[in-house]
Amino acid sequence: MLQIHQPLVPICKNRTMKLILLLLTAFLALICNGQQTNKDDFLLSVSPIIDKTSKVNNLIINALTDFLNTKNYSLIENKNWVRSDFEKYVYPYLDIYTIENSKFGKGFYKPTLVEIIPTEKTNQKIIKIAFIGHNSETQELQLKTIYNVIANINQDTILFSRYLDHATEKWHIVNKNSLTYKISPNKTTNKTQIAQQQIDIKHICKFLKCDAIPITYYSCINPKELFEIKGFDYTPMMYIDKTGGLADYGNIIFSGNNAEIYTHEIVHIYTSKLFPKIDKFIDEGLATYMAGSGKFDYKWHRNKLDKFLTENPNYNLAEHTDAYERIYFESETSIPYLTSALILERTLRIYGKDKLLDLLKSEKDLWTSLEIVGVTKENINTELRKEVKLPLTPVW
Ligand SMILES: [Zn+2]
Repeated sequence: MLQIHQPLVPICKNRTMKLILLLLTAFLALICNGQQTNKDDFLLSVSPIIDKTSKVNNLIINALTDFLNTKNYSLIENKNWVRSDFEKYVYPYLDIYTIENSKFGKGFYKPTLVEIIPTEKTNQKIIKIAFIGHNSETQELQLKTIYNVIANINQDTILFSRYLDHATEKWHIVNKNSLTYKISPNKTTNKTQIAQQQIDIKHICKFLKCDAIPITYYSCINPKELFEIKGFDYTPMMYIDKTGGLADYGNIIFSGNNAEIYTHEIVHIYTSKLFPKIDKFIDEGLATYMAGSGKFDYKWHRNKLDKFLTENPNYNLAEHTDAYERIYFESETSIPYLTSALILERTLRIYGKDKLLDLLKSEKDLWTSLEIVGVTKENINTELRKEVKLPLTPVW
């Protein structure tokens, strides 16, 4: 899974566009004009390039103001958002939920309506919103993101919807059993990978004793394209990793790996449905045990873990069970992911599959759950250091 960071990026370091500079100038002008606002007051800046004499534009500005004012109250409903999106995507505007908040305070990043762009459909326009913060101590402007949504115009009513459908309207669709691929026009479809993915899904279903789950698989060439179809023109996350992807609500896989196979993320879709309360540590361990992580399979990572544990005899495995703690060995191997995967392998080897399924189903806290498979804070270091020296017990 992509590690999602949201670092603050000073504007001077960004890949800037003239447009952003224009925006920032407009934004700064607003601040300097002495429009002193209460911390709780909401201010939607509107770029001077938007024609404010247009009736439709005014409707959009009003609806957007209302949406931005209310979106943080609920992820599951908003009167300015198309209802069917909540069924399809569950949390359709999760990407910009509470995006205004930062370590500098609630509402630090202020929205600016940057552009209203026509589409081929007369009743749909692309709305570009920038979230920019002004640090009054350093006088720096900080760009958080530029994000697109679709405005759907129906007479005097404006309803927003997710950008994803518009962005992938012309993508190549391939249906293969439970998977619906939407494949970037920037790549050619890899039929071998599609067939291999089917085999892996059969293994997952057999192992977890379940039916196949219908999944929409967006196949992007890289994380930058992935974030673009999600609606981002800019987010620092676009440039953190060269590969990666994520499983999203609504049974969606976003792959940024230029590939039609992504078993690790598909495992996450299954676990989120079958074991909604699964501990993230166990969840990542299972996905890694079944399908590796990043570019490499489990066996490869397991050898790296062995090397890591040999080089770090005092590393305490019990203290690092936050799945997303960034402890990487030789930059590719997440030690928490591998710790968990090895616990699951040991469980399968000693106790068998049913006990492993019990562990996945457990809704207790992590260490209470691990007790049922004989792992405690006291013995984890000796047990796993022994386990890693044994031949690999394959998951299937
Ligand atoms: Zn993962």
